[in-house]
Amino acid sequence: MNQVLSYILIPLVVLVLFLGAFILLRTARFPRPVPNIPPLERAEVDGEKVAQHLGEAIRIRTISNMDLANNNGGAFFELHRLLERLYPKTHAALHKEVVNEYSLLYSWVGRDPELEPILLASHQDVVPVEESSLNDWIYPPFEGRVADGFVWGRGSMDIKCGVIGIMEAVEHLLEAGFQPERTVYLAFGHDEELGGKNGASAIVQLLKSRGVTLASVLDEGTAVMENMLPGVKVPVALISTGEKGYLSLELSSESAGGHSAMPPSHTAVGKIAQAINRLEANPFPPHKRFIVDLFRSVGSDLPFGMQLIFANMWLFGGVALKKLEAAPATNATLRTTLAATMIEGGIKDNILPRKARAVVNCRILPGEDLRSTYEHVMETVNNGEVSIKPLGSDTLEGISGWDPSPAADLNNPMYLCAERVVRQTFPQAAVAPFLMLGATDSRHYAHICPCVLRFAPYQVTADDISRVHGVNERLSIENCETMVVFYIAYLRECAG
Ligand SMILES: [Zn+2]
Repeated sequence: MNQVLSYILIPLVVLVLFLGAFILLRTARFPRPVPNIPPLERAEVDGEKVAQHLGEAIRIRTISNMDLANNNGGAFFELHRLLERLYPKTHAALHKEVVNEYSLLYSWVGRDPELEPILLASHQDVVPVEESSLNDWIYPPFEGRVADGFVWGRGSMDIKCGVIGIMEAVEHLLEAGFQPERTVYLAFGHDEELGGKNGASAIVQLLKSRGVTLASVLDEGTAVMENMLPGVKVPVALISTGEKGYLSLELSSESAGGHSAMPPSHTAVGKIAQAINRLEANPFPPHKRFIVDLFRSVGSDLPFGMQLIFANMWLFGGVALKKLEAAPATNATLRTTLAATMIEGGIKDNILPRKARAVVNCRILPGEDLRSTYEHVMETVNNGEVSIKPLGSDTLEGISGWDPSPAADLNNPMYLCAERVVRQTFPQAAVAPFLMLGATDSRHYAHICPCVLRFAPYQVTADDISRVHGVNERLSIENCETMVVFYIAYLRECAG
């Protein structure tokens, strides 16, 4: 008996020990290696002065209205004049072009014309403030008040701080006699909040027509986030390397109508409901790449249990996936998502609807595209009585959606350069690549650049982020200073 037991037990114990060692070894090798980099020689920047300049920019109401005819063009000209006044050296040394009346493109010619240029982007426009929310603002949204350690107002975070931060950095570098090796473009669109068609897209067309390709673009995007991941005690600086695509589809169904006392088994409304139900029950397949890249980069700052799980997805993949899918934010990083956002049909309670329609909004993961998303929705609904087409168009051509932007390679030297400067500027933070879930101007640059990065160099909490496009948007004076320090270091390091 004893001998039989030992025949079974010994191999079993050996197997368990071997498996345990294998899991631990994989866990130990999981974190992405953190390079050894020297600390930053922080440039001397007066945060209070930067905050005052940002306040001046906030006072100018460059609001993006959906109705372009109502766009306050004069305000954009006023902002241009403010930039000229605040940054005279920049305006003397850089070549400025105005694109489509309001957008700005500056060129700072580098010493070496052989090197591909880089571009820093931000946008001049801001979203409107809802009339009904005015009483909830501690300081009025367009006063640009500097108080209690913050600059308050619309655009303080999104993203006049980018325009001011970049201009301050260039002015500072010019004062110090710096000239970049690479040519540097500064691009400030005027309609990012409307999709960037007349601003960033036109700037890209202009550069393209001149045969310009860019080594790197750094635009607004994700930031240094506090308390971003459960169990991670340090802030995480998220550099978004890709951006999701966008597609709205209209589902419609027709039926004969008539009296609701003698209904068919499915009314037009019922067919649409069934289609939506199928779509919600059959989500797009998950791709763990972005999440695993994120967790690998957070590395040893991740709780040990999470490192163990994500290092051994072959074993724990199912458990991990369930957890990630449970939260909307991580689920959206895993897959193309789909949300039924509009529905209508029927005119009276006792009349069969002749027509019903719904709109589903899809956010497409890099690696998939408009066509594959459209086809997935059609295959999943699989009902000849429900017609599906892109919203506002019969075909995918000419729609207002767009393909996802491909993610930059994490070994691209320009990514590594940006990552290095982020580490130096925010030594307290872990630095990780991420996926931009919302839309920014930067997607337009993917046409002329393989390394488009989305990063706002300020450190914030989830509460701060909720103020963007909301009430009491504000940026700390400390962040005003850090942003300029970052842009100076970035230009020295990645263009110098
Ligand atoms: Zn923005």
